[in-house]
Amino acid sequence: MRIRSKVLARIISICLIMGMAACAAQVSASAKKRSKPMLALTFDDGPGPYTKRLVKALDKYHAKATFFVLGCNIENNKSALKYAYKHGNQIGNHSWNHPQLTNYGASTVFAQIDRTSRKIKQVTGKKPTVMRPPYGAYNSTVQQQAHMPLILWNVDTLDWQHRNPATTQAKIWAGAHSGSIILMHDIHEPTVRAVEQILPKLSKKYRLVTLNRLAKAKKRKLKNGSVYFNITRNS
Ligand SMILES: [Zn+2]
Repeated sequence: MRIRSKVLARIISICLIMGMAACAAQVSASAKKRSKPMLALTFDDGPGPYTKRLVKALDKYHAKATFFVLGCNIENNKSALKYAYKHGNQIGNHSWNHPQLTNYGASTVFAQIDRTSRKIKQVTGKKPTVMRPPYGAYNSTVQQQAHMPLILWNVDTLDWQHRNPATTQAKIWAGAHSGSIILMHDIHEPTVRAVEQILPKLSKKYRLVTLNRLAKAKKRKLKNGSVYFNITRNS
């Protein structure tokens, strides 16, 4: 009897130790996840025919991105937009049809942005809370009429110009720092390929998050009309 209870006690203590070890492993894994530097991948000018494929690749690596969409592309790609949103990505406003907003007056600028926000809400159920002016062109009129924070970028992959996955990847690695905002375009297939190929390594080094998540993590409250090139902690 005594022997049996000794054995039982030993078994219980082994289980406890193993349980604690498993728990410690879990804690260190989540601490590691938390301590990874964060950056924001952003994709402009969609939604388009490759958007869903891109979201599927992001999902595989628990990565999220922000899509700055054009209002005029939504009607023909509604399911892609819904898919991106439902899978935890953020949808931003990139104007209705990509004019350089600095060439226009307040009413046109407002209409370009407002019409797009309403269209996004119609499809996803949520109004966007960030906007990116086409060409990154802004002035005080754009800042006033946006009624949202203006999100630019500090890493330009120039993917639309060279259409070369290796070059896009090199630009991402060169600019990948905590708080970086990386500019790409999901309407180009080589860009989607570049992301598919870089995700296994990139997601190991960085947490790839939406702009809202990045701002929250950096304890930044993004202000309407303010312009952001990256999002780091205020010192
Ligand atoms: Zn654009």
